[in-house]
Amino acid sequence: MVGCGALGCAAIDLLARAGVGTLTLVDRDVVELTNLQRQSLYVETDARDGVPKAEAAKRRVRAIDSSLRVHACVEHLGAGNAEDLVGDCDVVVDGLDNYATRYLLNDAAVKLGKPFVHAGAVAFRGTSMPVLAGAAGALGVAREDAPCLRCIFPDAPPAGEGETCDTAGVFGPAVAMVGAHAAAQAIMLLAGRTELVDRSLWSVDLAANRTVRMPLAGAARADCPCCGARRFEFLEAPGERCTVLCGRNAVQVRPAVAGPVDLERMRGRLSALGEFAVRDGLLVGNVDAATELTLFADGRAIVRGTVDPVAAQAVYDRCVGS
Ligand SMILES: [Zn+2]
Repeated sequence: MVGCGALGCAAIDLLARAGVGTLTLVDRDVVELTNLQRQSLYVETDARDGVPKAEAAKRRVRAIDSSLRVHACVEHLGAGNAEDLVGDCDVVVDGLDNYATRYLLNDAAVKLGKPFVHAGAVAFRGTSMPVLAGAAGALGVAREDAPCLRCIFPDAPPAGEGETCDTAGVFGPAVAMVGAHAAAQAIMLLAGRTELVDRSLWSVDLAANRTVRMPLAGAARADCPCCGARRFEFLEAPGERCTVLCGRNAVQVRPAVAGPVDLERMRGRLSALGEFAVRDGLLVGNVDAATELTLFADGRAIVRGTVDPVAAQAVYDRCVGS
């Protein structure tokens, strides 16, 4: 499960209770109070303590079923780790909130021959679709009937164009429906019941009380760069280091070279700037009155108090080093 937000929570709960043996949960973020209206695995104490979502979700599903093997990966899914993470799984489920990372996941799944389930939701609407392009041969599905994500959505909507969870909100029941549809596809695939997989792009709109199924038969494009030409542009592209976290007055900064960071040693170094503390695998403190720095053990940081990537990267480079 890549992304442990609202969709992730809905799907993870169903997958865990269905008896999926091993769950790998990937999420880069921490639980916040405003998440609780829709992110059903988390509780107030998770938000109060700023627990990473992957860790909080792991705790919750281990409480549901202590025999589950759960890997919590508090990481940003990027070109550097996508193939390792996807390669270890039988089915990949998309609980992401952005297209760039979805296309990266699509590239990895097609390249490595893994089935993947795309899902997305915003406001009252949501969509779910099994992507069998990479695994079509193994699943006995005709190649032309197994489009990848880019066959259906060739390009991402430009930044600022589409609604986001921050600008439009997310209606919990819509997410629960989409997460359930996505989890159902994953369970069918894991159980080897390919004939029961919904071979359509399924959409729901609770504001219009409407569901729509768009059949995927014949929808694979021969000229698709990913599943047609097998050019994995997103896996090969070097990513930007900064991501503005919309509506949160914060920027995520990734290290130029990823690697484990000794948080206790960093705490010692940063104590000159202010009070820093290590908790739940994170180093948190204020760089100045207006700027909070959260450093993850993989070298990634969230700089709160700015939406300017340059300023955020400056704080990072100044405090953590590049
Ligand atoms: Zn394609």
